[in-house]
Amino acid sequence: MPLEPPPLAQAIEGYLASRPRAARWLEWLAGRRYRLATFPDRPRPLVVVAHRYYDPAKAEQVAHAIEYDWAETPPRCREAYEDILTRAPGLIVVQLRRKNVCGCLGHRHVIVKEAPFCEPHDAFGDAAVGEMDIAFDRVESWLALPLTDTALDTQFIAGSRLREFHDQQLRFRLLSILLHETHHMVVPQATEDVVRERSLTFYREALADYVEIARATLSFTIDRSFSRLGKE
Ligand SMILES: [Zn+2]
Repeated sequence: MPLEPPPLAQAIEGYLASRPRAARWLEWLAGRRYRLATFPDRPRPLVVVAHRYYDPAKAEQVAHAIEYDWAETPPRCREAYEDILTRAPGLIVVQLRRKNVCGCLGHRHVIVKEAPFCEPHDAFGDAAVGEMDIAFDRVESWLALPLTDTALDTQFIAGSRLREFHDQQLRFRLLSILLHETHHMVVPQATEDVVRERSLTFYREALADYVEIARATLSFTIDRSFSRLGKE
């Protein structure tokens, strides 16, 4: 999140902290936690990652994708979602799960079920509330683009760079699913093919761009060491 959180984020933080102690205690005991995240280039939508107490690292991955990785994607990736994000509900609750019984990566919810957000509140201002779920473990094992994903793997030497690449890949997947479900929310009549095509294009292009930059910096390091050797 930027240094100064947008007003809606501040209002939601205040609201979550000011609710009756009993309600907060029940949630806390039930293991419910919230992590707020906003895209760096727009104040809305504000994303509330609702998760269980034992999954803060997973919630952090989703937040990192929104707060940092989004800005690293090529401009055309972000432009493709400009209209959707502008029309999206001001507040999007993401119920982060490990798995879904149905095996899906995520769904948008027609009715908001997350307790603090299912009833209107002054703190939301004029922001509408939307909700979706994302099944983290399922996303982790998902081969979004089987051929591309495997081909890219071979470009990174096993070790820390491969690990870094896999983390980045996972965050782009999380981002593409968040955008996919937001697209469904904004344009409910859009067919699955259309929605999927756009989110897969986002994922494919974001990943290709990352690989290109990573390779450029890698060969830069190699070139420098070669030229240094040449001088000696
Ligand atoms: Zn879909």
